[in-house]
Amino acid sequence: MQERIERLRAAFKDADIDGLLVTGATNRRYMTGFTGSAGMALITREEALFLTDFRYVEQAKAQAPDYTLVRYDDPYATLHQRLARYAGRRIGFESHHVTVEQLENLKNPPDGQPAAVEWVPVKGLVEELRGRKSQEELELIQAAVDVADRAFSYILDHLRPGATEKEIAWKLEVFMREQGAEALAFPSIVASGPNGALPHARPTDKPLAAGEFVTLDFGCVWKGYCSDMTRTVFIGRPTDEDRVLYELVLRAQQAGVEAVRPGVVAKDVDATARNIIAEAGYGDFFGHGLGHGIGLDVHEEIPRFSTRGGVVLEPGMVGSIEPGVYLPGRGGIRIEDLVVVTEDGCRILTKSTKELICLPA
Ligand code: ZN
Ligand code: ZN
Repeated sequence: MQERIERLRAAFKDADIDGLLVTGATNRRYMTGFTGSAGMALITREEALFLTDFRYVEQAKAQAPDYTLVRYDDPYATLHQRLARYAGRRIGFESHHVTVEQLENLKNPPDGQPAAVEWVPVKGLVEELRGRKSQEELELIQAAVDVADRAFSYILDHLRPGATEKEIAWKLEVFMREQGAEALAFPSIVASGPNGALPHARPTDKPLAAGEFVTLDFGCVWKGYCSDMTRTVFIGRPTDEDRVLYELVLRAQQAGVEAVRPGVVAKDVDATARNIIAEAGYGDFFGHGLGHGIGLDVHEEIPRFSTRGGVVLEPGMVGSIEPGVYLPGRGGIRIEDLVVVTEDGCRILTKSTKELICLPA
C-alpha cells in the first residue's frame, strides 16, 4: 500500500490539502488493504494512521501493516486528539462519503473545543487513483471475469423451456461460488421474453419459453474485484427480425469496443455505439449509458461511458461496453464485455462468444 499512499500524497498539492481522512468503505480498503467495516484512514505528508475499534485491531494489524494502528473507543475523540499536531492545517474529508452528522462530528470535537484543523471537502481523490488499475488488480479482475465466462458456458446447458428465471439465477450463483468467487458482484439478471425489455429486471418465476430472447447479466467478486458480463441468447428459432436486431446490438457493441483507446473521451465511445443504434431507428430504445468503470466496486465513475462521460481514457482503465435495445412488451437484447485500455487500444477481458446462440426449444 506504500505506493498508493505516495500516489495519494502526490495529489495533495493540486487539491490544496495537507492530508486526507479516508472514510468511504471501498476507498479505505483500496488505501489500506483493510476489509473490515469500521475504521478511518488519516493520511498526511508525515504519517499514515489507521483508526479502528477493538473488534478490528487484529485484522487491521494483519491487513494494513503500512499504517500506524490507533485503537479508539470514541472515534471522534481519538481522531481530534491525533489531529492536534496539525493545528491550522487543511485536512480533506471525502464529501461524497461523509454524512451530515459525521461532518458535524469532524467540525465539533466532543470536548466542546473548536476543531484544530480546517476541514476541506474533497471529492473523488482516491477514486481518481483507483481509475488506473495496477497489473495485480488487472489479474484479479481477469480472474473474476474468467469465473463468469465459465458460468456462462455452464448455464447454457440449463437454459431450457420450463426452467424459471429464478432457477437459472440460482444455478449461476451456486456455480460461481463453487468456482471460488466470494460473492456476486450484484444480483444476477435473468430476463426472458418481455421481461428483457426492463434493463434491470429481477429474475421472476416466469419459465423460459421457445421463441424468446433470454438476457443474462451477472458477475462475481474475486478477492474484492468484480466482474460483469451480459449475453443474450435465443430459445428456439429466431425470426429474421430477431436476428437483425441482435446483429444491430452486436455491431454497436463491437464498434464501442473498437473506439476504446488512450486519449479518447469516454462520451465519444458512447456516441460511436449509440449512433449505430440510432441510425437503425432504435435510438429511443437504448436509454442508458454505454458502460461504466469497474474494479473494487461494480460501478465506478472512471471511466463512465455515457453521453456526458468526460473522462479521457488512459491505459489501465477498465470498463464495460454494454449497449442494448429494449422493446416494451416484446423483449430486449444486451451484450456486455469488460475491456481494459492498453497503450494503443484496448483488450477485451470477457472471452465468451458474442455470436447469437440459439438453444433447442
Ligand atoms: Zn452487467
Ligand atoms: Zn455493467
